This record gives sequence, C-alpha cells and structure tokens, in this order.
Amino acid sequence: MANELKMPTLPSFDNVEDERRHRKERLAAGFRLFSKFSFDEGVAGHITARDPELLDHFWVNPFGMHFSHIRVSDLILVNDHGEVVQGDRAVNQAAFAIHSQVHAARPDVIAAAHAHSTYGKTWSSLRRPLGALTQDACAFYGDHAVFEDYTGVVLDTEEGKRIAHALGDNKAVILSNHGNLTVGHSVDEAVWWFITMERTCQAQLMAEAAGTPVEIDPEMAGLTQSQVGSHIAGWFSFQPLWDRITREQPDLFE
Ligand SMILES: [Zn+2]
Repeated sequence: MANELKMPTLPSFDNVEDERRHRKERLAAGFRLFSKFSFDEGVAGHITARDPELLDHFWVNPFGMHFSHIRVSDLILVNDHGEVVQGDRAVNQAAFAIHSQVHAARPDVIAAAHAHSTYGKTWSSLRRPLGALTQDACAFYGDHAVFEDYTGVVLDTEEGKRIAHALGDNKAVILSNHGNLTVGHSVDEAVWWFITMERTCQAQLMAEAAGTPVEIDPEMAGLTQSQVGSHIAGWFSFQPLWDRITREQPDLFE
C-alpha cells in the first residue's frame, strides 16, 4: 500500500473573517522574517495585504514599530484616502503613496513588499535589470522592471502611480537609488519574492565583483522562469520559512 505523501496546499476559506485572519498572520510572519534577514533600516519598509472584503483597503505595519515586534493585533487597516480605520497607530505616508497605487493598478495583487535591504538598494543604484545568472535569478527573468527615476521620499500618490505603471504586469520593480518592491497573489508569495530578489542582487553583485559572469541562455532562462517563477512556486517556497518563524516566534499570533 502506498503511503500518502504530505505537501503544503493552498488554503481555501468559507468566510471572510477566516481569510482576513489568515492574511494578517502571514503579514505578521513576513515582518518577523524581514527582521530576521536584516531588511530593517530605521522606520523604512512596508508590506501590505489587501483586505479580503474591503478591496480598496490594506493592512500594513504601524509607522515606527520595529518589524521584529509586530503581532497580528498591531497591524493597521488603511482606507483608500490613507486614513487609519482600524488600529491606533499612524501609517507611513510612503507606504500609502506607493502601495495604494500598486493595489489599485493591479487587482490581481493581494500583497506588496518593500524594504531598504542592503543588496537591493545597492543594486538599485546601477539602474539595470537583474541578469539570468543563476537558477534562482530566473524567477525574475522577463518578470521585473526598473523604475528609472528618483525624486526623494515618495509621499505623493502621483509618484506611486508612476511606480505602479513601471511595475506593469511584473512581479517586481527595482526603484532606482532606493530598493526593491515585489508583489504576489498571496502575502506568502510577495514576501518570498522579496527575500529571493535580495539574494539575487547579492549574487550578481558578488559575481560581477569577482569577474565576468556567464548568463543562462534566453531559452533556458525562460523555461526556468516558468518552473521557479510561478505564483504557486513563490507561495510554496515561503512555507518552510513560515514553519520556521512561527515555531520560533509564536507571539506573532497575538
Ligand atoms: Zn522605501
């Protein structure tokens, strides 16, 4: 008799409260992981999750709270005017200016992630797309863009609109001289793309510092993109990280 082999499976929900709770738990876990990977830089950085019922509202981290401290109950809900409608802490104006426009332009996007991580912001100063240097890098092959402008801290939704336009249908955009932004059909996916994009920036910086890396040919890069770059692959890659962080830091559920 064959054994039943276990695999993580995509969750489904029969009510909006459960779905909301699920998104908020994944979001709190995402912040804990961002802290673990040292993506924190003072008060910079935000991950948002679209509310499953109020589709133009999103959940986000409170402005000025360290990623490593964020619990489900600390998350704030922001409406389409940038007003906090649940929670008692302020929203980062840049989080609203950028993420509200990304969520509006991309109805398929459930979550968006952005931080001032070291290798991402270093790579962003080169104003170039990432190359197909490694198998992991192929997740971004033909699926990321460069926003080739820098106009100071993004506080205006007009600038957020321009960023959303540059993102297009891609999973990621490099914000020049600033850092990366990734999106996904789940919080899991957006957070995973951010983590693996950071390491992809690191790998390319190291490879170019060491010599002249050889790119994967376009046909193989495209094939690999379809294997490691799909929505389900992004979601699946996050699951061991979820297991790790929730076992280590169960207070995030509070
Ligand atoms: Zn930023």
